[in-house]
Amino acid sequence: MSERSFQGIGVSRGIRRGKVCLFQHGTKPDAERKIQPREADAETDRFNRAAERAVREVEELIAKTAGKLKEEELSVIRGQKTILSDPAYCPEIRKLIREELLKPEKAVSQVTEKYAAIFENMQNSYMRERAADVRDAGNRLLGILTGADRSGLAAIDHPVILVADDLSPSDTVQLNRDFILAFATEKGGKTSHTSIFAKSLRIPAVVGLTGILEAVSDGEELILDGSEGICIAAPEPDTVAEYERKGEEERKKEELYLRSAQQDARTSDGKRIVVAANIGSYADAAGSSREGAEAVGLFRTEQVYLSRQSSPGEEIQFQEYKKIAECYSPREVIVRTLDIGGDKNVKYLGIASEANPFLGYRAIRLCLDRKELFQTQLRAILRASRYGKLAIMFPMIADYEELAAAKAMLEEAEEQLAKEGIPFDDRIKTGMMIEVPSAALMADVLAKEVDFFSVGTNDLVQYSLAVDRGNKQVSYLYDYCHPAVARLIRQTSEAAHANHIPIGMCGSMAGDPLAVPLLIGLGLDELSMALDSIAQVKYEIGRLAFESCRNLAETAVNCKSAREVRNLLLDFRSGVIRS
Ligand code: PEP
Ligand code: MG
Repeated sequence: MSERSFQGIGVSRGIRRGKVCLFQHGTKPDAERKIQPREADAETDRFNRAAERAVREVEELIAKTAGKLKEEELSVIRGQKTILSDPAYCPEIRKLIREELLKPEKAVSQVTEKYAAIFENMQNSYMRERAADVRDAGNRLLGILTGADRSGLAAIDHPVILVADDLSPSDTVQLNRDFILAFATEKGGKTSHTSIFAKSLRIPAVVGLTGILEAVSDGEELILDGSEGICIAAPEPDTVAEYERKGEEERKKEELYLRSAQQDARTSDGKRIVVAANIGSYADAAGSSREGAEAVGLFRTEQVYLSRQSSPGEEIQFQEYKKIAECYSPREVIVRTLDIGGDKNVKYLGIASEANPFLGYRAIRLCLDRKELFQTQLRAILRASRYGKLAIMFPMIADYEELAAAKAMLEEAEEQLAKEGIPFDDRIKTGMMIEVPSAALMADVLAKEVDFFSVGTNDLVQYSLAVDRGNKQVSYLYDYCHPAVARLIRQTSEAAHANHIPIGMCGSMAGDPLAVPLLIGLGLDELSMALDSIAQVKYEIGRLAFESCRNLAETAVNCKSAREVRNLLLDFRSGVIRS
């Protein structure tokens, strides 16, 4: 086939060339339905065949990879075999099919989770890690039973460009970074959570490519340009050469940025701006430190939940938070409490579907309702706080009462720990996100109640401009350069400084070099962003003068439209580049 080009939305930069791997979420069988007693034999047989095939597959894998993998990696595969031949695991699944009349898929999930949870709560770290073996074995069985996905995400074992209808945040966190060169999806917007995770995984990505699944075929060659949002299938040799050149230029720029990455960020006239990282896991923490992050401005703890099949207990969370605290110590890590709901659904939490999930049961609202879930997390964060410098941040606070309730929950967790004689940092800072317009408008009141603010523009934009952040049909309206957004930020920043607390930003706007001068002019003290922007933003800050940023911000808040602000920022940027 001849060369074809597709325009989407570039969400994570980088140029990659590779073979297409198509992935589409199939319609899942109705696993929740109970079977009829007369179906029990047939369903048990179906399970038995799946179990035999799973063992065969694992044995073949061991034979195929022996000598090529390290002993550690091989033992992970062997672990699956051990689980599949365990005297309790498969029999218990069979029992649920026959006695409880569960579909095999449901029985496998249930037993797998039960065993994984048992392992996860063990004291011994070796045994805790066995939980992953149980889940691998369970996923293998589920893959065979649903006929879905062995050709799917978990089974990808060579470098590909993944072309999918959509990837949920939990799909994204499971992608194997070694094999996914890049990904392209039909759905998604610039700040949908999937795009955010792509950036933090540093996987080049383009979303919003309507029709691409139909238009390309498995194994076809594709070039993906994550900065320009372009995909080119079956590229001609001239196109390949052009993109190789572009790729080379990008690499040179990266080298230039990395040179200033390890110094503190300061404008040319001496204004200090803390450049921090948005992370979702310990792996991100380690990576961001290398990129020059001076702190963690946002640790999205929901990834700890999204990457599991059941709610992580206090001990698991404590271990994860502790590792991150230690990795960053003495630098600060702002741990955001669970922000689930909206476009981040966690199946095991059983959140009912809603007509307007972004306006519904989400983030702090859910945590205040599910006290046990919230207390477990708060205790884990507090326990980890003595291993570094942690701060706690509440997401999506819309009003004073909500903030007061969240703080009361934190106090309760502190009191409990104190009673139990468990040490924690009793001077831990508490902050809140400004991502709902009501919070920005009430910032003078709220500033008296917290130690810091952090502006979450991803949500602030969607709530103030009434534009769903993940809906590509209205993505033309979703623009953080809107003067209304600048006004809300300015109002919040003035309130923060009048009350002597710092204000950061952890929404995606903070990592956009075009927006950085405006943000500095609006008074932001800290900018926190995805890993791949840190070095460049530090480099750009060094070329700015604080005074001109302030003048720029003053003009921006008086503009009439987002377009006018964008043009203003583009002119400013070309002035900086020329000078
Ligand atoms: C935001 O809303 O800007 C933010 C940082 O939070 P999230 O993207 O996780 O909703
Ligand atoms: Mg948010």
